[in-house]
Amino acid sequence: MDRRRKVVMGLSGGMDSSTMLAYLLNMGYEVYCLNFTYGSKHNKYEIKSAELIADHYKVPYRLIDLTAAFEGFKSNLLLSGGEIPEGHYTDETMSKTVVPGRNTIFASIMMGYAESVDAGKIALGVHQGDHAIYPDCRQDYVKALDTLVYLASDRKVEVIAPFLDTDKIGICRVGLDLNVPYELTRTCYKDQEKSCGVCGSCRERLEAFEENNIDDPIPYENQEQGFQTLEGVNTALAILKDKITSETNVERILKYSEDIKKLEKQKLKLLDDEKTQFKSSSTDYDNFNSNRLNQEKIKLENELVKKTNQLDTCRKAKNRELLKVEINKIKTKLLEVEKIIEKRRNM
Ligand SMILES: [Zn+2]
Repeated sequence: MDRRRKVVMGLSGGMDSSTMLAYLLNMGYEVYCLNFTYGSKHNKYEIKSAELIADHYKVPYRLIDLTAAFEGFKSNLLLSGGEIPEGHYTDETMSKTVVPGRNTIFASIMMGYAESVDAGKIALGVHQGDHAIYPDCRQDYVKALDTLVYLASDRKVEVIAPFLDTDKIGICRVGLDLNVPYELTRTCYKDQEKSCGVCGSCRERLEAFEENNIDDPIPYENQEQGFQTLEGVNTALAILKDKITSETNVERILKYSEDIKKLEKQKLKLLDDEKTQFKSSSTDYDNFNSNRLNQEKIKLENELVKKTNQLDTCRKAKNRELLKVEINKIKTKLLEVEKIIEKRRNM
């Protein structure tokens, strides 16, 4: 086959790369897929999706482990990093999910592989929605990378990025037209089996399906529960209120106001939870008899162990803060009880 019809691409198992694979095959390309694992929170879930997609399209697929190379890199997307922010994908907070140098590292491996399988192109699945936050997804980056790859491969390999000027909504439309099995794909950034529905990545995906008037075929964890942080609720509310003012379609307006109502309710619930968690219960231990004091001591010690264990596994920053407050309160109470026990012993 003509090497200009052979292309190497990164298949992560997400919507963009899965759609690009379908798009390139539809254009008559012979496609070679590489997937990179680099210690991200969602790698282990994405890999399953990537394998299923590669199977579905019967294309060659290789998984390349770069975990060691990314050790020490700073990003909330990595297992070693902090929380994945909830909210909109263009929010400043999403910049915490940038992995420094990622696309350049991947691209250089794809280039080397392309030369090895005699492919004349490497394809990047970057799109317009990534431009705001990710520097290695922008037009000038792709242009410069193309020059670099072309020269580095002695003019044998070039870079294509078919979705560079398309947004997620457009990509979704292309994929729906090409019957991409979106039920097999994975988009969520969080370290959990079921997609969260509230991280920037999930929000962008859900919006893309909504704009195409199609239900996203994958299940979401928070579809009923809603956002679990006030920041998430507030961002979603701001976006919806913004949308509703410019929307002319009556059905959409009704749907948006329904969603706003749900979010307002969730916001109240979250505010309420916060209040209850902070409410201090003052107990007059002085009036306890020795037996009850000892029982109280054991109760508080058990509670302390339980909360400390919860803190160890809790991943939400807000909940972690609340747990820390609770732990401090228990410690204070425990000290108080121990002091009284000690005092009585010396009486
Ligand atoms: Zn998510």
